Amino acid sequence: MIDRSEAVLLDERDPLAAFRDRYIAGDPGLIYLDDSSLARPLKATRRLLGQVLEDEWAGGLVRSWTHWIDLAQRMGDRLGDGLLGAAPGQVVFCDSTTVNLYKLSMAALTAKPGRRVIVTDDGNFATDRYVAEGIAARTDTELRLVRSDPDTGVDLRVLRDALDDDVAVVSLSLVGYRSGALLDMAAVNDIVHRAGAYMIWDLSHAAGVVPIDLDGSGADLAVGCTYKYLGGGPGAPAYLYVRRELQETLRQPIWGWFGQRDQFTMGPGYDPVPGIERFLCGCPPIISMTAAQPGIDVLAEAGIGAVRAKSLRLTELILELAADRLPELRPASPVEGSLRGAHVTFEHPQARRMVAELADRQVVIDHLEPSRLRFGPGPLFTRYVDVWDALDRLHAIAKEIS
Ligand SMILES: *Cc1c(COP(=O)(O)O)cnc(C)c1O
Repeated sequence: MIDRSEAVLLDERDPLAAFRDRYIAGDPGLIYLDDSSLARPLKATRRLLGQVLEDEWAGGLVRSWTHWIDLAQRMGDRLGDGLLGAAPGQVVFCDSTTVNLYKLSMAALTAKPGRRVIVTDDGNFATDRYVAEGIAARTDTELRLVRSDPDTGVDLRVLRDALDDDVAVVSLSLVGYRSGALLDMAAVNDIVHRAGAYMIWDLSHAAGVVPIDLDGSGADLAVGCTYKYLGGGPGAPAYLYVRRELQETLRQPIWGWFGQRDQFTMGPGYDPVPGIERFLCGCPPIISMTAAQPGIDVLAEAGIGAVRAKSLRLTELILELAADRLPELRPASPVEGSLRGAHVTFEHPQARRMVAELADRQVVIDHLEPSRLRFGPGPLFTRYVDVWDALDRLHAIAKEIS
């Protein structure tokens, strides 16, 4: 059994320990293990927002558009280079993940005439399934749902068997929001390309905590949100990736002025630019993109290798402590670290009550319907001792309600 002093020792030896001080602490008594929903803000975010408000908005007013105009592209390059393995000119900030999924799914479908099937898995995040369902309902397209395991995610053999030459596009999450199952990006790209389809990745639960190599793995398209581990804040803008060779082939369905060639001549017809900007629609959210910058920078500075190593140790510790002290919790995530993202899930019939009672004892984790508890510790803020204390309080709750 692991005692608390071992967790303290792990913190003393943690090479990332100093990053904790970069964050706005909020309530110092709170143990927060829900970066998989919303990471906490950085002190740098407060400074930067104040600066943009004072200098750029109040000071520069409309003149500041000269450097705001390409902020979405610069932010995309920063994220792409720092955390997604994407060379410049392929990632851009815009809209929400949902809207970007719609834009890229429609663009991919239209570029595969004669193919009428869109594939996702039945355990994918709700919005991803709804977007595909909505497209199928409004176009001459069929939605094909691949069965996935609630604990281990999508099996590549099942995926391979579901693909044929009717499939235009496959859309999957790199890390499953529920199980935390991590797919092999290169292997999936290969399977999908062999079937002649385009692959769209949703990176929402992976970006910033799992090494990602979009360019190197041969990815076509990707989307993701920035408010989970990336720390962009509530409702922060999402991003999308389109591999450079595909940019001129693909046309998205929302024709707006931010995708237009010679935008400010306001010409009579839509004529999109050749590059990544053609996937933009309207005005970029300057303030909320600004808020998303420090979270990306701090993760890139710490280095995704070190972040991943600590993240795995944190979730391993949760699994070990649960196995020792809470055998009634059934692990509902891959136990093997290389198959898991940055969160870990358990099943228990009283999950809802446990999560609520933990919240009363100053520990925030997530409850997933109907009966799962999800721990998503942010690697740069969470201490091993926080994990130990959280599981200790959960152990006490489990004893009381059994
Ligand atoms: C969080 C999340 C989203 C969020 O979509 P928004 O439209 O940005 O709210 C989408 N997909 C997945 C897989 C997610 O985890």
